[in-house]
Amino acid sequence: MSVTIPNSPVHSDTILTAVYGETGPNWARFHTGTDFAPTGSTPANPQLFSVCDGEVVNVMYDGTLGNQIQIKDDATGNYWRYCHMQSASPLSIGDRVNTGTQVGVMGATGNVTGIHLHLELSTTMAWNYDTFLNPSTALGIPNERGTIVKYDGSAPPPEPPSEIVKKKFPWVLYAKKFRNNRWQIFLNSI
Ligand SMILES: [Zn+2]
Repeated sequence: MSVTIPNSPVHSDTILTAVYGETGPNWARFHTGTDFAPTGSTPANPQLFSVCDGEVVNVMYDGTLGNQIQIKDDATGNYWRYCHMQSASPLSIGDRVNTGTQVGVMGATGNVTGIHLHLELSTTMAWNYDTFLNPSTALGIPNERGTIVKYDGSAPPPEPPSEIVKKKFPWVLYAKKFRNNRWQIFLNSI
């Protein structure tokens, strides 16, 4: 079956290759996220987009989940984690994102068998089996392998990462007292 949503993590077609709560030899306890893989005309390494308005709270790498970014969802206070990204996210901790902001590129870093997005949702920032939620449910898609997820095209065009531009004032003002007891003010570039 196929479902079309406004906040897909990929802006072209994907297929769910594993879903939340599955058990089996691939997983220590259960599958903790929803897996999206490219399908149809979607390129092998598609861009990934935020599924919510929120704030970047973590950008990291580990050997299991690969390159990751975590976003705290403004609406729910829950944490989305995008895993196995091709490279480190262009975003930084503290950056604001909107639904549709690019957060990275799908990849196969960490412990994987192929390119896909492993998308997790949790009530806590820490990775914890006891606090996971079903990302499929939150996105309004069936938690069923083989589901084709389509994007409805409604998100605004991706924005570049937000950035605080730090500008130093390039001049310094100082005063100097001369022997004749007169002061002179200087403006110097630094
Ligand atoms: Zn997965």
